[in-house]
Amino acid sequence: MIPARFDYELAESVDHAIELLGSGGDAKLLAGGHSLLPLMRLRLARPSLLVDVGRLDDLRYIREDGGRIAIGALTRHHDVANDPLLREANGLLAHTAAGIGDPQVRHVGTIGGSVAHGDPAADMPAVLLALEAELVVRGAGGERTIAAADCFRGFLETTIEPGEVLTEIRVPRLGSGWSYLKMTRRAQDWATVGVAAVQANGSARVALTNMDATPVRARGVEEALASGADPAAAAERAAEGTSPPSDHSASGEFRQHLARVLTKRALEEALGS
Ligand SMILES: Cc1cc2nc3c(=O)[nH]c(=O)nc-3n(C[C@H](O)[C@H](O)[C@H](O)COP(=O)(O)OP(=O)(O)OC[C@H]3O[C@@H](n4cnc5c(N)ncnc54)[C@H](O)[C@@H]3O)c2cc1C
Repeated sequence: MIPARFDYELAESVDHAIELLGSGGDAKLLAGGHSLLPLMRLRLARPSLLVDVGRLDDLRYIREDGGRIAIGALTRHHDVANDPLLREANGLLAHTAAGIGDPQVRHVGTIGGSVAHGDPAADMPAVLLALEAELVVRGAGGERTIAAADCFRGFLETTIEPGEVLTEIRVPRLGSGWSYLKMTRRAQDWATVGVAAVQANGSARVALTNMDATPVRARGVEEALASGADPAAAAERAAEGTSPPSDHSASGEFRQHLARVLTKRALEEALGS
């Protein structure tokens, strides 16, 4: 379908983008367009103004920052996947980016777009939850930092306000204790279910893709591990409290089964057992 009518402005800076977002109507940022444009073509999104931030190259970077790794929101999945610093310091993020969609998607889609879109089937949000990432956003009132745990509010809904631009994602350095596993029906499909597992500071964190209206932490698994359960026993609690969708890919019940199976495997990889 053809999108509803909209105006278009090219932002020349983050401040310019914020000014355009505040200019009235239902304005939306356009980054890679790989999630927003399909929604517009289905007329599920009908913004009156698209503010194109896709040429703000100063929001494309990956660098060390006070012991964490800072990633500009417009960094494309391809660059996250292939960055030497990330591959050494946070292999989980690079590995996850390398498995998003196909090469065309990875060369256009951005990490910031993946976060701001808030799709529970997307890979990055669950991984950022497991990493306890921080998100830096800027609006007319200045800059604030949102914990990834506080970002995902509902289906395609985040706590990034309509007038704000996500500028940076901050993740910790990681050792070798990590895993992201997903089940797809066909190569390059979206995850039917995904599981991110991270071992850090003597404890394990687990987060799930496509198991609810938002990405979720598998708290039952984390509690079981903290109480001394082995990965197989802990993984049995992976689906606790989740309400996964039933769709053409899988029933909710099968997704819960997959979550348990993938969590066991992800924990074995991350914990080296
Ligand atoms: C064929 C296909 C296959 C795909 N497969 C996968 C997959 O396997 N796994 C996966 O995780 N994803 C997948 N994707 C999604 C892809 O990763 C998208 O690129 C990504 O989800 C959104 O990034 P974008 O830069 O294209 O964002 P856009 O589509 O431009 O924007 C998405 C939303 O985020 C908002 N936004 C964008 N940038 C910002 C910002 N800096 N600050 C605030 N708001 C912002 C926009 O206003 C919009 O609401 C796929 C997409 C396609 C088309």
